[in-house]
Amino acid sequence: MKANRLVLAGSFCWNKDCPNNGLVDHGNIVKYGRTGKSTQRLKCTTCEKVFVENKGTVFYVRHHNPKEILECLAMVAERNSLASIHRIKGIHWSSVKRRIAMRQRSR
Ligand SMILES: [Zn+2]
Repeated sequence: MKANRLVLAGSFCWNKDCPNNGLVDHGNIVKYGRTGKSTQRLKCTTCEKVFVENKGTVFYVRHHNPKEILECLAMVAERNSLASIHRIKGIHWSSVKRRIAMRQRSR
């Protein structure tokens, strides 16, 4: 039986057409500069595809900082309504709802 384990999003190649797709810490991923928002860019040396270290996470392509995202998710876990999170944090309910949907898809 194959054991499941958590790995860092930037520790493997995301390209499904790459021969090293999904191989964790295989040595084919190298740092490749940063985005304008200072997110680490990574490059697969096998297929030459570039992606960011937070791809596939709730922090991927978001306008709010990670701390705000985690605070909103904690508020959802504490059964706050999306409307109350909007009033307290000033983050629109649709943004919070997208993050919740992303968490549910990744399970
Ligand atoms: Zn690759």
